[in-house]
Amino acid sequence: MWWKILLAFLAVFILVTLIRAAFYKPKKIEAVKIKDVKIDENKVAEHLSKAIQFKTISKIRDEGVEWEEFEKLHKYLDETYPLIAKNTTKEIVDKASLIYRWEGKNPDLEPMAMLAHMDVVPVSEGTEDDWKHGAFEGHIDGEFVWGRGALDMKNHLICVMEAVESLMAEGFQPDRDVYLCFGHNEETVSTEFSGASTIVRTLKERGVRLDSVLDEGSALIKLKVDGLIDTHLAAVGTAEKGYVDMKITLHDKGGHTSAAPKHSGMWKLANAVRDLEKNQFKSHWLPFLDELIHAIGGRATYLGKILICNYPIFKPLLKFILTVIPQGASMVRTITSVSMCEGSPKANVLPQRPSITVNFRPLPGDSIADVEKHVRKHIRYKDIEIEHFNGKEATPFSPTNSRAFKAIESVEEGLHPGKVAVAPYLVMGGTDAYRYGEICDNILRFAPFDVPLSLFFTTHATNERIPISALKEAVVFFREYIIKVSDKN
Ligand SMILES: [Zn+2]
Repeated sequence: MWWKILLAFLAVFILVTLIRAAFYKPKKIEAVKIKDVKIDENKVAEHLSKAIQFKTISKIRDEGVEWEEFEKLHKYLDETYPLIAKNTTKEIVDKASLIYRWEGKNPDLEPMAMLAHMDVVPVSEGTEDDWKHGAFEGHIDGEFVWGRGALDMKNHLICVMEAVESLMAEGFQPDRDVYLCFGHNEETVSTEFSGASTIVRTLKERGVRLDSVLDEGSALIKLKVDGLIDTHLAAVGTAEKGYVDMKITLHDKGGHTSAAPKHSGMWKLANAVRDLEKNQFKSHWLPFLDELIHAIGGRATYLGKILICNYPIFKPLLKFILTVIPQGASMVRTITSVSMCEGSPKANVLPQRPSITVNFRPLPGDSIADVEKHVRKHIRYKDIEIEHFNGKEATPFSPTNSRAFKAIESVEEGLHPGKVAVAPYLVMGGTDAYRYGEICDNILRFAPFDVPLSLFFTTHATNERIPISALKEAVVFFREYIIKVSDKN
């Protein structure tokens, strides 16, 4: 008898699922009607190529920075974008960061800001010859623009400039002020001493509060699984994970190794590592994951929708699966990574103050103080010292109902009707946008470049390059985004 009830229950469940999947609709997004504009992608590629040729490499503590390379890039931007040079006020702050202000019609509206960084990472020593074309040649082969910064992020910088220049050429004037804020040391400085921080301080001193900020972030990713989904994913970074290195020092007796006890201080160290790795942070299913899944689900096939519309049932399982995949785990919890250790200074000396250094990446919701509490709670030895380095709290999430987020949705929908899912996500690394939290609540990180996933691995690596075909769409995106966000309505 019981199996009949079970069968009936199952039949109802399947029926409900099939009906729900049939009525599962994507979020309603009004597509922007993309304005006709002539953009010569080869010209954009040439401009990017030229920008790549300036060796704007940032260095830790500015030691050995070739400032003249930044000056040359500044001059190049002035010459290449004469309307921007004419119609904006430009300031150089903190040695080489730039603030352009394009005045809007209505000074009462909060300004918007477009961000980019002008610096790049160097080529790793010994890998120079692995490059098919020199990292600073800016080689164009008809299909790609090659070189350091082609993806991170001179592409973004140049396309923003192209967009603004072309809007100015059409006589467009924004309702609100548009700031273009370009930092010069994003790759090396994530502290309050960066160019981005100086830009933020400068704006703050003037009483500027920004409506929104758009900076680098994930690009357009192709999602294709036969029979389930075939769409682009525009993942917009709405929050950044935190960062902190902690040096944890233990105490032990020390002494001569010739009369060593069974366990030295390194045994304690090993136990401490074990305690931390065994007691991982609790995982949390943050709301952005629901939005992400819904956005993707809206673009899935009927079969895909059957799976997606039942995902709340599988959520605990999904959460578990995420925690066992390293990349997934970083989405749902604070990551603990023991990366350095130190014993005694000599092989025949027992360690008295052995230490480990642990890199933590706090999830929004876990503060650095929470991390320290966690460490003290789980390491079995109570006589420990903890020092913090490079601490940066995780940011709160920017809302997804802001003018700026909606603009990304509707512009992407205009560019890829019915073929794009726009969703929030959590940024694992750091961006200049982090610093803007003081003067802005809507901080978005998104690079509108349609680039194959395989090319992303060339970022910060060998043979960094971007398809020329991705440049034109990015310029169109930035134009439409500026038109929409700068509008008073
Ligand atoms: Zn970057």
